[in-house]
Amino acid sequence: MGKVVFAIHGGAGSIDIPPEKEQEYRDTMRSAIRAGKERLDKNDSGVAAVEAAIRILEDSVLFNAGKGAVFTTDASHELDASIMYGENLQAGSVTGVKHIKNPITLAHKMINNSPHVMLAGEGAEKFGMEQGVETVTQDYFYSNRRWQSLLEAKNESGEQNEFGTVGAIALDKNENLAAGTSTGGLTNKAVGRIGDSPIIGAGTYANNEGVAVSATGKGEVFMRGTAASDINALVQYQNWSIENAASEVVQKRLPVLGGTGGVIALNRQGQFASPHSSQNLLYGYVTEDDEIFIDLFPDGAI
Ligand code: ASP
Repeated sequence: MGKVVFAIHGGAGSIDIPPEKEQEYRDTMRSAIRAGKERLDKNDSGVAAVEAAIRILEDSVLFNAGKGAVFTTDASHELDASIMYGENLQAGSVTGVKHIKNPITLAHKMINNSPHVMLAGEGAEKFGMEQGVETVTQDYFYSNRRWQSLLEAKNESGEQNEFGTVGAIALDKNENLAAGTSTGGLTNKAVGRIGDSPIIGAGTYANNEGVAVSATGKGEVFMRGTAASDINALVQYQNWSIENAASEVVQKRLPVLGGTGGVIALNRQGQFASPHSSQNLLYGYVTEDDEIFIDLFPDGAI
């Protein structure tokens, strides 16, 4: 495989993609990957590339981020997103937003225009309005598929491990890493519940000395296991290979804590890893020579 410069994921889980939807998934993932790569080719920062790709995935009803996000237990949507630069460890994060069309854009604005790393709920939305990001009413996020999942989860009286959190990682022309993640969280989650996706070091991390990581899976376990930061630490401080570090955390340490999922990870040499312990992980990447690879049904899950 050539040097990977940009990669995305579309969530981990157990639900297979229906054959009639397969092409739509591939097309949407391909346009997100292309959008990220185009920004890198224009010499934009990895963070700009990550935002551009995630916006496309947030705008697609196929994924559990932005439009198509899952429902909370009271049938509302609460969205989380975070983004990070590997060069200077700057990071931005928003959690529990209900009216922001593209939470990843708001997270990115946190880096440039706020002294804080993370804003929640009402405060995050107020900041969004000051920044002029696009706002929507809750019905914008509605999809019948996620509504049915909520009803099913309520019948089974529990949360479901839903497919479709999105993430992206980049290696830009200045050899800086970046990572970002955006999600609606878990179906039937409690109001106010925060998962790993907006938590720097759990669902998202980027450090030029180590790796860029975006995670997906049972957020509580990724938080308790400081998943993204642990993968980085094994690479940065213990000199582990990216492949070994990512699979150690995802396939050995997190399942012991009681949860499954997957990550995409990339280092400054353009080495890429995508281990998962869930049945499936949707992901794709592009090399510096514009070779695009998309995997909707990876082997090797346990
Ligand atoms: N990690 C996300 C969360 O717990 C959900 C997912 O990745 O499917 O909020």
